[in-house]
Amino acid sequence: MFALEINDLAKTYSNGTHALKGISLHVAKGDFFALLGPNGAGKSTTLGIVSSLVNKTSGAVKVMGFDLDRERVKAKMKLGVVPQEFNFNQFEKVFDIVVTQAGYYGIPAPVAKQRAESYLKKLGLWEKRDTPARMLSGGMKRRLMIARALIHEPDVLILDEPTAGVDIELRRSMWVFLQEINQQGITIILTTHYLEEAEALCRNIAIIDQGDILVNCPMRELLNQM
Ligand code: ADP
Ligand code: ADP
Repeated sequence: MFALEINDLAKTYSNGTHALKGISLHVAKGDFFALLGPNGAGKSTTLGIVSSLVNKTSGAVKVMGFDLDRERVKAKMKLGVVPQEFNFNQFEKVFDIVVTQAGYYGIPAPVAKQRAESYLKKLGLWEKRDTPARMLSGGMKRRLMIARALIHEPDVLILDEPTAGVDIELRRSMWVFLQEINQQGITIILTTHYLEEAEALCRNIAIIDQGDILVNCPMRELLNQM
């Protein structure tokens, strides 16, 4: 069984843009996987479909064996999502944002609070727990979204450009955190346009361009070709 299985996935937006032209991708459980490609290649569309934010035109997606069409609720329970845009309530406090999310998954409040504390500490946000989110720096907001995405202890974490606009020092500390949770068994799938990031973190990659997968191989093989 794969953590993520995408078969013949196509997306045509209502304005006629063919964002995905029938891609297939299989990501093994426990993998650290990067989807690379230039702007407009179809990376966000792919992750958007996997996280149920964008409707597909055709094809099939399974998360931990659960089909997104037939078993959407189960698939969503297995998945944590860190989208590119900041989509939390900017006026809510950091701690409350993470705990509120737990409510959507039916996690009891004491458990939610314990987990929120643990993730906020690991991500260096504990001192900011009573701060309204709008007061945070961009890098802190990104880490807040990671804490929130982990609250239901998903098997698969997907992140769309997690370190865009984050300075190099903080980027490295986020890498360390992602490596730690990957070592604990969470499958990580991210998009990035920093090749350096994929090189530092990822075991396997796919390169997407104009809605097609051009390359799908171990990171090591890609580096050997360069
Ligand atoms: P869907 O086919 O998933 O319903 P739509 O085609 O209706 O999506 O577009 C969703 C939203 O994204 C619309 O508000 C649209 O204006 C906006 N949008 C249109 N073109 C682009 C683009 N190139 N990049 C990002 N967003 C866009
Ligand atoms: P990437 O994440 O690799 O930059 P996207 O998945 O955002 O690529 O975009 C793939 C293609 O789909 C681009 O041509 C983009 O302009 C188009 N696109 C993305 N979102 C929308 C939308 N909501 N409506 C119409 N076109 C879109």
